[in-house]
Amino acid sequence: MINYLKLSLLIVISFFVTSCQQEEDLANLEKQNGLEQLSEKDFACVYSFVDNNWGPNAFRNNFIINQSHTNFIYAHNRRIASVFGISTVPLSFIHDNSGTTFNALSFGSGRIDFGEDIYRQAFAKGAIAPVAILAHEIGHQLQFRDNSIPTRRESTARAMELEADGYAGYYVRRPNGYNATWTQAGPAFAFAFDIGDFNTSSRGHHGTPRQRRSATRLGWYLGAYDLTPKSFDSNFFYYYNQYVLPGNLKLAKKKRTVKEAEMDAFIESKLDELVKLNTGELSADDFINLD
Ligand SMILES: [Zn+2]
Repeated sequence: MINYLKLSLLIVISFFVTSCQQEEDLANLEKQNGLEQLSEKDFACVYSFVDNNWGPNAFRNNFIINQSHTNFIYAHNRRIASVFGISTVPLSFIHDNSGTTFNALSFGSGRIDFGEDIYRQAFAKGAIAPVAILAHEIGHQLQFRDNSIPTRRESTARAMELEADGYAGYYVRRPNGYNATWTQAGPAFAFAFDIGDFNTSSRGHHGTPRQRRSATRLGWYLGAYDLTPKSFDSNFFYYYNQYVLPGNLKLAKKKRTVKEAEMDAFIESKLDELVKLNTGELSADDFINLD
């Protein structure tokens, strides 16, 4: 992504040690936040040079802005994992005084780094925005943990990215997730998914803003149903393939369960809107103002 490319220009291979005077505070925070799964390597304070994804002065810990923000985002980190039926994903924050942490990264090794800059700018658009970003990154963890998803395979990362947007839409709607209304969620999604992707892996295309809005909205609609990650995947692409890439549609007419037939009726009643989001007939502003 663009931000990542910018960041990569700033990389200096260096290492220096910062003070660890806050280590005890952070350890207490970690206990409060139930982050026992963090490895020692991930633990608090310790390093200045994080990795090549961040500037040379960046450092990682488990704290963002203040206790209230920290509790808020870690609570959602646990809840997102719970909604998707996986163990809590180790989450750290990356800080840097030079304003170079506008990114959030999900690693195949099973953890997430969330930059302070993107967190702050997202939160300014509403509390849902950083949660939507986190849910997108955890969506990638679902993909990493189950090699069979996404079931749609493309030569770029697009299908993975759009599905991650869909998982975020799903979580933000779920009654046991964020339980938001679209009025609350629309501006947050517009911020989170119009500014590009938040993935370091540079695997190419992540979908156009129109496709991302449409994918997020489809995930939101699927949030009306209680789905496993696998079932979400199969239904997400069942619909997505129908309206996003009709020319490439190779889908056999799937046998639908009774529950899915009910879902089909619901989603098909929304198909016109999803298509218009995807074609741009419904604009970014229209997206925010949906109900
Ligand atoms: Zn992503």
